Amino acid sequence: MAKASVRDGLRALEGYHSPQVDVRVRLNTNEAPVGPPDEFRRDLAAALDSIAWNRYPDRSASALRAAIARLHGVPASMIFVANGSNEVLQTILLTFAGPGRKVATFEPTYQLHAHIARITGATVVEGERAADFSLDPTEVDRVMVNERPDVVFLCSPNTPTGGVDDPALVEKVIAAAPGLVVIDEAYGQFSSWSAVELVREDSSVVVVRTFSKTWSMAAARLGYVIAPAWLVAELDKVVLPYHLDAVKQVAGTLAVEYVDAMNARVREIVSERDRLVSAMSVLDLDVFPSGANFVLFRPRSSSGRSVWQGLLDRSVLVRDCSGWPRLADCLRVTIGTSDENTAFLAALTEVVS
Ligand code: PMP
Repeated sequence: MAKASVRDGLRALEGYHSPQVDVRVRLNTNEAPVGPPDEFRRDLAAALDSIAWNRYPDRSASALRAAIARLHGVPASMIFVANGSNEVLQTILLTFAGPGRKVATFEPTYQLHAHIARITGATVVEGERAADFSLDPTEVDRVMVNERPDVVFLCSPNTPTGGVDDPALVEKVIAAAPGLVVIDEAYGQFSSWSAVELVREDSSVVVVRTFSKTWSMAAARLGYVIAPAWLVAELDKVVLPYHLDAVKQVAGTLAVEYVDAMNARVREIVSERDRLVSAMSVLDLDVFPSGANFVLFRPRSSSGRSVWQGLLDRSVLVRDCSGWPRLADCLRVTIGTSDENTAFLAALTEVVS
């Protein structure tokens, strides 16, 4: 029997993979280095008892939305939650992209923006970032005026490059964009500024956040968007009914009660990031400024691939971006625990010296 053929436009797509290898020091997927606080685990175990297992969960996740809304000082009607910020991005694109529509990115950036857009059938327009990976105002103008994209993605701090977009340029993008502007702030808590205050009821700007990094909850798959209420109502129509299970709703609602513990972790990661960046800066590397929980670097005298392998030989795994477009020889290291970072620095020093 003949194999069923997939939709036109999907044949050339490749899946998104982050290879895992069994190592001592794993610094390749930008996760939090430690789990959530013990009190959170204890409270969660108790809260699970109250779940009515025979019933569907609260379809509108109202307690969770209200808790996230309080965190940001906005009405609950401005919050949409889903299974990881990836599902938030997917729901946004199912609502605003699709066949006949254009989605713009500024490359290099998070690959899933373009990947999901293509899956919806939209045409992806790739704008270019400058050589230092910052947003280029001339290129922003070109993309907005020539392409008139229905959706524009920004990612600040950007991955895998780490840089924080200039607020003035973000406002320029918003002013020039003919459609929706999505600002992916998966790493927003580690950054010097946030675009959340640019989200207004009379605009088309949304900010996407995740529980996977600061909140140490990558395992739970929980993300959200802060958006005008009219736009949240559109997303609610598109997402599957009961998409967010009861366990996750309880876990997320509890997690935001630990905001002080989470902020303390962010401070620790930022201080470790600064330690790493200054130690790496004296090595034979280009180190890119980071406002995130990871750092992009490029060996000057060896290939990125050989440095990646040298680190792996010392049981340290970082993300190999060296084969990605525009990122020749670049590697990305996630900030880990202090001991993991020290082990990474020792291995890196050996490999590049
Ligand atoms: N956006 C960016 C920029 C990311 O780096 C990631 C995680 N790799 C995500 C979104 C997705 O995060 P999650 O689905 O775990 O919330």
